Amino acid sequence: MIDKVLIANRGEIALRIQRACRELGIKTVAVHSEADAEAKYVRLADESVCIGPASSTLSYLNIPAVISAAEVTDSTAIHPGYGFLSENADFAERVQNSGFIFIGPRPETIRLMGDKVCAKDAMKASGVPCVPGSDGALPDDDDEIMRIAKQTGYPVILKAAGGGGGRGMRVVHTEAALLNAVSMTRQEAQSFFGNPMIYMEKFLQHPRHIEIQVLADEHGNAIYLGERDCSMQRRHQKVLEEAPAPGLDPKLRDKIGERCAEACRKIGYRGAGTFEFLYEDGEFFFIEMNTRVQVEHPVTELITGVDIVQEQLRIAAGEKLRYKQKEIHFRGHAIECRVNAEDPYTFVPSPGRITQYHVPGGPGIRVDSHVYHNYFVPPHYDSMIGKLIAYGDTREQAIARMRTALSEMVVDGVKTNLPLHRDLMHDAAFLQGGFSIHYLEQMLADRKKA
Ligand code: ADP
Repeated sequence: MIDKVLIANRGEIALRIQRACRELGIKTVAVHSEADAEAKYVRLADESVCIGPASSTLSYLNIPAVISAAEVTDSTAIHPGYGFLSENADFAERVQNSGFIFIGPRPETIRLMGDKVCAKDAMKASGVPCVPGSDGALPDDDDEIMRIAKQTGYPVILKAAGGGGGRGMRVVHTEAALLNAVSMTRQEAQSFFGNPMIYMEKFLQHPRHIEIQVLADEHGNAIYLGERDCSMQRRHQKVLEEAPAPGLDPKLRDKIGERCAEACRKIGYRGAGTFEFLYEDGEFFFIEMNTRVQVEHPVTELITGVDIVQEQLRIAAGEKLRYKQKEIHFRGHAIECRVNAEDPYTFVPSPGRITQYHVPGGPGIRVDSHVYHNYFVPPHYDSMIGKLIAYGDTREQAIARMRTALSEMVVDGVKTNLPLHRDLMHDAAFLQGGFSIHYLEQMLADRKKA
């Protein structure tokens, strides 16, 4: 087994990975910026190394600093968490070439999936259904672009091949707006992601975002752990997730899940991963694959009983998957609310000191958070301060528990989006389930008018 893991991340996921390691008897090394020196998980780690100043470019994204920290602490493996360097193929390669285990897929796989045009091609070849649109990247020829858009059918969405984080996307409703939008999206793609390549998809009008969690080992075994519904989004960013997806036919889940597991076997995937789909009128359309652990992994853990982070560690150590598909059973329902330090109505980040902090508890409640009373939320990073997760035998019970938990939770000193989550737990469309990815934006717009 792995002896010592360096956790190349911060915040709740750093603590989550640390807990998984401790349970398995693996030593941990926390790396941190100057702004995170006081963090709880830094104190709890067996060792810690400051890798730079607050700015993430100089610390959490600083590859030589992370590798040196692994060297001086004699770590065996590096867990990248999510965000930061987690989907950086060059980093994964440097980690391996320096003699450490990268806890994630092979660098080639990360590179393949990081280019969404290549990823879609690979998925098509493996029999995974994709959103209709351009066959690969858009050509330079204007007439050809117009022909592809016409054939796809308006509205269309232009997306950067190297895109991520909901950026570098543009919806086009008419032919008159097309060419200008293409050139603007190309420029953005170049400046955000250093790659001007873009592609086109049909813009689906009322899809749900449903994703499939997979686990694969390096011995050719792969399984799926069911789906998560992440349709509650603002600006293409997830706000709340649940598993299973309300109303989804289990036969359909098994069919798409099996396709994903088969794709993993075909491309030689290793580790935990997520296939993201848009789901509309009973059909799944692949949009991208995430080659890392995701923020919303706990809802899957609660309904399957599988500890995804521990399985990542076991797979990285070269072990065979411990589960066969037929041993995976889905039981109950789980919902996760992402708690952000931000204004619940304007969504402006609200860093600062937490003056009061009370976490809820009781049956079926899990809180994944690194913050505590008197913790200072630094202004330099993502505004998520934790995740509140509720489990129940039924969706109704999970919602009831989440309502109670939200009413017990107190975070003072900074603004949070807890009021938004409290509203959502009473929202008619949410209670019914099966709303589309455009629902929250619409609800927020209506609220503004009212
Ligand atoms: P990113 O990697 O930036 O997150 P994705 O391809 O995963 O980009 O898309 C993010 C979100 O954008 C999706 O969850 C969905 O809300 C929206 N989106 C992407 N493609 C389409 C599409 N073809 N039609 C409608 N919405 C889309």
